[in-house]
Amino acid sequence: MAEPNEPGLNQQQESVPDSSPPAPPPSSPQPQGPPTQVEKPPAPQQQGRDRRSQPQGRDRRNQQQRGRREGQQSHREGGNDLSIVIPVYNEEQSLRELYESIRSIANRLGRYEIIFVDDGSTDGSMRVLHDLRNRDRRVKIIRFRRNYGKSAALSVGFAHAEGSIVVTMDADLQDDPMEIPNLVGEIKKGLDLVCGWKKKRYDPIGKKMASRFFNFVTSVVTGIRIHDFNCGLKAYRKEVAKEVKVYGELHRYIPVLAHWLGYKIGEVPVQHHSRKYGKTKYGIGRFWKGFLDLLTVLFTTRYLQRPLHLFGFWGILFVLAGLAVDVYLIVLKYREGLALSNRPLFTGGILMIIVGVQFVSVGLLGEMISKTRQTSDREYSIREIWK
Ligand code: UDP
Ligand code: MG
Repeated sequence: MAEPNEPGLNQQQESVPDSSPPAPPPSSPQPQGPPTQVEKPPAPQQQGRDRRSQPQGRDRRNQQQRGRREGQQSHREGGNDLSIVIPVYNEEQSLRELYESIRSIANRLGRYEIIFVDDGSTDGSMRVLHDLRNRDRRVKIIRFRRNYGKSAALSVGFAHAEGSIVVTMDADLQDDPMEIPNLVGEIKKGLDLVCGWKKKRYDPIGKKMASRFFNFVTSVVTGIRIHDFNCGLKAYRKEVAKEVKVYGELHRYIPVLAHWLGYKIGEVPVQHHSRKYGKTKYGIGRFWKGFLDLLTVLFTTRYLQRPLHLFGFWGILFVLAGLAVDVYLIVLKYREGLALSNRPLFTGGILMIIVGVQFVSVGLLGEMISKTRQTSDREYSIREIWK
């Protein structure tokens, strides 16, 4: 698999060697295939402990051989039809079950890869992922040095995805892999991005209400008529996944970013489940942060290239309003002798002029910054890659 060709991906900083190191010896507990890694894999002792929870004896061997055969076949043929990108942050208990159910569904969809992006997990997630990778070479692992957030995880997953269609889903078993064929089907029919719509949600009531409100506001403000912007389950035509820039916590607004780029977006209702293991990684803070991010998205999609169009408009409006008020008061003073000193409106007019001038100045500064801006696309550092 070729190294990703992400613009701004600085190979030197990334500390991921260009060529793959030699394959581990057969008895090694390391994952098979061409690992591109910079750090020791989990200690064999840890892996031994992990094995206890796996299928035993012949069943397990058969399962491993089958996975390996399928994986190697897909590898030999080269290229993938489908990349499934899964951000993982402390989801140790869900991963095996998730992998098995994806495998049973995705086998019907042609060649595929599952890219797990470990977002700095501190539990045994990496151990489980290495074990899955040992069984099945279609499992790819990208591991961050620390927790950077879901957006960074999706972003690096997109950069490394090779499939002509990319599907994302959460690792916590709340998204159902059964829906993947539906989503992929919609892409094949012509959409560029298909969002899952958790029509019946299995989340705490507070989260459901807040989320409904958030989706409503986002839909009204952006004019995009979908119900569930932040569903983890989405399918993308490859170009969309490669082009959309997801950083900070903007994963909630991927449909907005893609829509703004001109891609065709749709949604399909999907089955949702309650969280089986572990707990949510987001508190209530997600909602106000979400709205601040909405401002960012609106600003960066509409006005990033032309900030003066936003600030200049309001600035000039304020200056004109301030001037109108003050000129009116000055005329009154000279015509009817009304003193300005006891007219608070006069000060208000001056304030509006000052604010307006500041708005215009901010807009001009923004224009200058956008002209000289050097974008650094990366906000994460990769610790190791297995692909
Ligand atoms: N996640 C991640 N990094 C983070 C937080 C979450 O990769 O910093 C992953 C997490 O492991 C899960 C998905 O993003 O696969 C969604 O997270 P979660 O289930 O906590 O969100 P919720 O369902 O509560 O919206
Ligand atoms: Mg969840």
